[in-house]
Amino acid sequence: MAKVLKCRDAGVDCDFVARGATEEDILKQAAEHAKKDHGMAETPPNLLAKVKAAIRDEKGPAPGSLSSLGVGR
Ligand SMILES: [Zn+2]
Repeated sequence: MAKVLKCRDAGVDCDFVARGATEEDILKQAAEHAKKDHGMAETPPNLLAKVKAAIRDEKGPAPGSLSSLGVGR
């Protein structure tokens, strides 16, 4: 299942959303985003903990809807 992280859920007033297959993938994108858009050379450990806690499983379409017809994947 895909995972999603909203910067806002990590306590930052920002609309950035990272999507990835794994937590690692998300953290990589988040680190890049933090560097580029928040001017953080490194993610502080306390923020990293918040970010990890804010990662959610993305709600996809209900099982057996489009995917069972071979559409969309
Ligand atoms: Zn952000």
